[in-house]
Amino acid sequence: MEDRNRRIRKRALDDEEHGYSEKTHLIHGRFQNTLWDYSHHVVPPLSSTVTYRLDTSVRGAKGFAQYGQEMGEDESPIYIYDRLNEPTRGMLAQNLAYAESAEVAVCFASGMAAISAAVGVCAKAGEKVLAHHVLYGCTFSLFKNWLPRFGIKANGIDFTDHELLRENLTSDVRVVYFETPVNPNLHLVDLEAVVKTVAEENENRGPEERIRIIVDNTFATPYCQRPIEFGVDMVVGSLTKNIGGFGTDLGGYVACSRELKPALLGFRKDFGGVPSPKSAWPILVYGLPTLSVRVRQQQQTALKVARYLEEKQIVKEVAYPGLESFPQHELAKRQMKDYEGLFAPGTLLYFALDDPDGSLGGKLIDYIAENAYSITMAVSLGQVKTLIEHPYSMTHASMSCEESASHLVDPGGIRLSLGLEKGEDIIHDLEEAFKAL
Ligand SMILES: *Cc1c(COP(=O)(O)O)cnc(C)c1O
Repeated sequence: MEDRNRRIRKRALDDEEHGYSEKTHLIHGRFQNTLWDYSHHVVPPLSSTVTYRLDTSVRGAKGFAQYGQEMGEDESPIYIYDRLNEPTRGMLAQNLAYAESAEVAVCFASGMAAISAAVGVCAKAGEKVLAHHVLYGCTFSLFKNWLPRFGIKANGIDFTDHELLRENLTSDVRVVYFETPVNPNLHLVDLEAVVKTVAEENENRGPEERIRIIVDNTFATPYCQRPIEFGVDMVVGSLTKNIGGFGTDLGGYVACSRELKPALLGFRKDFGGVPSPKSAWPILVYGLPTLSVRVRQQQQTALKVARYLEEKQIVKEVAYPGLESFPQHELAKRQMKDYEGLFAPGTLLYFALDDPDGSLGGKLIDYIAENAYSITMAVSLGQVKTLIEHPYSMTHASMSCEESASHLVDPGGIRLSLGLEKGEDIIHDLEEAFKAL
């Protein structure tokens, strides 16, 4: 055991000294603790046990007492019960923290479980969540339908208007929440500007009243953008999408500073949104290590398809942060960068047809659903297969049903998540669908 610990320490040191790249880290993980005999496995083990043998009641009590606390580098955790802690999920969390440039990460059963926990530990009854007005449909529904039942108010405004944001930071606000790029329209929110505005307000507040900024990084993935580096407090994300990458498992995560970890683990333990190790494992073994190659390839295809769509008469708007015509292109170049500092505009695009009566979008998607080989009509995103969907009637139906928010999702808008097929094949299938309109 001692030998092993020494070896692990040495690897941790090597890691720091040589400064291996993030791309390499996503493949090899961290060697900084003794969660498992990692040094003898080429592929991390998939552990599957609901409960753990606790040699003595003293050890059991110690396990409960240390749950959620940060451990020393050489200390092995005392595992008790799967819902509390287990090694596969723990290794995934470590790699995610690294990927997001955060001190720690906590994994959840889904992106929504992660979002519920992040908001749940930052706001309580009588306090308020201020969100950008366009959100992923289920997040919108969580804020609109469920938080108020716990006495937490939620309000949506346009975060691209910094003055409006400042005016809305009332004394009851505890959370400022947004996605960038926004699902589905790919609008960007300026990370630096929001951090500055909230920091100014926080200067006048005590620790209990402090506002925390939570950013949903699902669309960009940490490969294209690391909001923690801009000073946000928490990053939330869905592992189901491009980090998992293959569309086989649900998962979510919160990445943040060390001080927030005990609350997140406590919330997860008692609300129960814990991912099964059988779901964490493929994300750890297949998803994260291949994230950079997949995203790089998908990005190239996204730009190619975006340029193709831009030339189509019938397309009135193409939103892709990588296009020079994208209204926030300069902002995109500032905040969306890969680990090597190269511009990384992401793998999703959004377009709207010149479609005054709103019938052509549905027709295009239906044609694709029935005839296209390289494009699949389905919700979700960030898979090896290219996926197309209609946000107004599908992923964002909860917003379009809401009278006050219905104008924020365009009935003619179409979301396209690029996969790993050859770009020309995707363009061919789109061209056939346009011809059939
Ligand atoms: C899909 C998605 C989520 C929810 O993730 P699940 O893993 O499906 O719970 C949250 N935010 C965004 C932006 C998403 O696209």
